Amino acid sequence: MLLCLLLGLNMAACSQRAPSERPDPRLPVVSSILPLTDFVRQVGGDRVRVETLVPAGASPHTYELTPSQLIAVTRARVLVLNGVGLEFWAAKVISSANNPNLIVVTASEGLKIIAGDADEPGGNPHTWLSPLNAIRQVDRIREALIESDPAGAEVYRANADRFERELRALDEEIRNAVAGYSSRRFISFHAAWAYFARDYGLDEAAVIESRPGQEPSPAEIASIVQKAKEIHAKAIFAEPQFSPKAASAIAEECGARVLLLNPLGLPPDYRYIDMMRYNLNEISQALR
Ligand SMILES: [Zn+2]
Repeated sequence: MLLCLLLGLNMAACSQRAPSERPDPRLPVVSSILPLTDFVRQVGGDRVRVETLVPAGASPHTYELTPSQLIAVTRARVLVLNGVGLEFWAAKVISSANNPNLIVVTASEGLKIIAGDADEPGGNPHTWLSPLNAIRQVDRIREALIESDPAGAEVYRANADRFERELRALDEEIRNAVAGYSSRRFISFHAAWAYFARDYGLDEAAVIESRPGQEPSPAEIASIVQKAKEIHAKAIFAEPQFSPKAASAIAEECGARVLLLNPLGLPPDYRYIDMMRYNLNEISQALR
């Protein structure tokens, strides 16, 4: 009887407040890819609500935004882009969002960019896959969150400092692992690992899909097989955002294993640091 009364009172109290009408106090942020979403979460903590445009499992090289995603950009206060041409839709989306409150952050601005292929005049966009670049990207995100929400400045600074310490520890971990490798050359699925290779003294000897999403021709496969034999590749890397067919065919031809690298994040949490530890472990299996 007492319980019923308490429950009844509680429900009455709740219905008066109508929680669904209360606006979400968090800063609305939209980011293009999952690694950047994690950076925003790490820096923004409870003060931000972040939505990712390119969904898990899709490739940012080919994904086209939906109309409801455009609406998210019209309502956001901060839009976090990687830059270097990865968001081929960016200019169109920003102009059609017509959102005067929107702060656009290009996380790769100021980084040293590696040349891309013929389709990538701005360079290779996969900057975030080196933790050293990630630290600089986190700096930019922190500044944009502070600009948009100055009341949170202290929180954003403290969170960014903590996260950057974790990224520096990750960098150290990668350096220690790479120091023990017997080979430095590897074959990746697409040119995602160029910054990782540059910063840790490795060599992306060949890529299977020079145009992401476009399967290699038989002649290209033959030349990759030859390269794989030349470098005594123990493994060929595939990626979950693309078909593993070509990687499997190449691996079979040269007696290597297929391992999976993930440049965008691991479900269900999509934490950048977990993803990079996973990738490091796969790379170590191939090069140790
Ligand atoms: Zn890519």
